Amino acid sequence: MIRELHTKVCIIGAGPAGATTAIFLGKEKVEHIIIDVATFPRDKTCGDGLDLKAIAVLNNIDKNIIAEEIKPNGRIIASYGFRIITTKGKNVEFNYKPTAEQLPPYGTSKRIDFDNLLIEKLNTTYTNFLQATKATSIIRVNEKWEIIAQQKEQTIKIICDLLVGADGDHSIVLKTIGERKIDRNHYSAGVRQYWQGIANTHQNNLMEVYFPKEYPMSYFWIFPLKNGLSNVGYGMQSNVAAKYNYNVKEIFSSLIKNDKNLQDRFNAATPQESIKGWGIPFASLQRKCFGNGWLLVGDAASMISPTTGEGIGTGMTTGLIAAQFIKRAVEQNKFDESVFKNYDREIYKRTNDDIKLYKLSLWISPKFMGWAMNTFINLNFFQKFFHKKVGQWINSAYNKELKVNLDD
Ligand SMILES: Cc1cc2nc3c(=O)[nH]c(=O)nc-3n(C[C@H](O)[C@H](O)[C@H](O)COP(=O)(O)OP(=O)(O)OC[C@H]3O[C@@H](n4cnc5c(N)ncnc54)[C@H](O)[C@@H]3O)c2cc1C
Repeated sequence: MIRELHTKVCIIGAGPAGATTAIFLGKEKVEHIIIDVATFPRDKTCGDGLDLKAIAVLNNIDKNIIAEEIKPNGRIIASYGFRIITTKGKNVEFNYKPTAEQLPPYGTSKRIDFDNLLIEKLNTTYTNFLQATKATSIIRVNEKWEIIAQQKEQTIKIICDLLVGADGDHSIVLKTIGERKIDRNHYSAGVRQYWQGIANTHQNNLMEVYFPKEYPMSYFWIFPLKNGLSNVGYGMQSNVAAKYNYNVKEIFSSLIKNDKNLQDRFNAATPQESIKGWGIPFASLQRKCFGNGWLLVGDAASMISPTTGEGIGTGMTTGLIAAQFIKRAVEQNKFDESVFKNYDREIYKRTNDDIKLYKLSLWISPKFMGWAMNTFINLNFFQKFFHKKVGQWINSAYNKELKVNLDD
């Protein structure tokens, strides 16, 4: 027997983007269904690094969440800045000492914990969350969507007016609307492996980044977690990987074993899992993220920062914005694309500078970019810029309400 559910809004995927959409719909008292193939808590291949965009959305969910729930329980590990491991073996450190009232600018949290923290914030009065439920096909019937989903032996048919694609990089929603194509200029391949006992991590949990000289437009990271555990990973732009026929997993292992700037740090360390890979779709693709009866958020919308590879904060931001457009659509009982026409403007206006910078880099030779990143990072200017900017960014992440403009 197929179980049939009817709703105006159905979100596919409960990662940071989908969960944030559901949290803000709950705040607006908009009933909806959200489904995820996984049972939470669940892992997601990621660097586990949280930027101030993620912190800003958390503060918009609840202004006391950091002080009351996150700090006392150590659910996010504070990181005071960056360490750049240069190709000459010298470390350049960007260490921001927060004032007593401020918190550090960055953090890390294993995705198995962080994503679950968001799930705990769903309001079950308005959110019907179906876990272990996989969307297997979606069809358009009479201006509605029919989503067939499998929950163990049970088949479910969800009939809705608005379909929200929050199902990440391998999105079935993108396939349904015919948009799951990869543009290598705006995509990166990434790998992650947890390691225990890496030597010389910084006492302030600096997030470490390394741009290997021989592999342009790629970066290696060591992000510290709790109790001597680190998230170690490597990402490379797919256009570069294709051009030089590079294998990202092999390069990752070889850097750990053979790179003179890294190998000593790993001598006494042990990997905790096999190497895991996943895609990184960049916001520079500037995908259209809405249409008749559908909206995209997070990785499904290709919203990862092309310069930093961070997509948790940008994904959560799209969720917050989407919820406001969805609320109006439900109030007007209108789900055609005219209701969402300003959605792309609102999501891209927060990433435009990043996209411009990245597009500029596409004009420059990848090898030259690699050299420039290693050379200029030593300049005093970057230290001054970091200190000035981080202070401002922390302030706005804690004190600024994220406003969404629905109209022209
Ligand atoms: C190697 C790597 C390192 C990264 N490092 C960082 C970092 O340090 N910091 C950062 O900010 N970002 C990082 N990112 C990017 C970040 O992981 C993503 O941007 C983020 O997870 C996007 O969130 P999302 O909710 O859009 O998608 P996801 O987190 O992918 O969530 C999608 C959800 O949809 C569910 N789903 C998928 N298909 C279906 C289906 N058919 N039916 C039901 N449910 C379904 C999945 O189970 C999943 O829970 C990294 C990415 C990679 C690959």
